[in-house]
Amino acid sequence: MKKEFFHDALLYENDYPICLIVPFAKIVCPCCNGTGVEFGSDCDESRMVEDMYEDCDYEGLESYYRGAYDKVCSECNGKNVVDEIDWNFIEINYPKEYLAIKQYENNAYNDRQYELAEKRALGYFN
Ligand SMILES: [Zn+2]
Repeated sequence: MKKEFFHDALLYENDYPICLIVPFAKIVCPCCNGTGVEFGSDCDESRMVEDMYEDCDYEGLESYYRGAYDKVCSECNGKNVVDEIDWNFIEINYPKEYLAIKQYENNAYNDRQYELAEKRALGYFN
């Protein structure tokens, strides 16, 4: 299967995006392991379940196992699978675009690292 692939790094000067046609595979969503749901609470899932057992909170446990705390996986939107782009194909067939994307992502990564270092220097994480 092939599909259109857009990337922020591939913009014309007039901001009209370049579209690559690339093959992709469906893989089991790594975020929810193919269940389509993720734990939808801010508290620690295993800790919460443990507490319920300790407190003999059978009602809470029942609703937990019924999925009361689940929400649709944000990565796959509940489809259980995600598209995995064939990057080798892009590298071979669109070498110029491939480089642009890698460059772009490197820069984004470096920007993030720089930002983190700056915040660390300002004492944000203490
Ligand atoms: Zn998922």
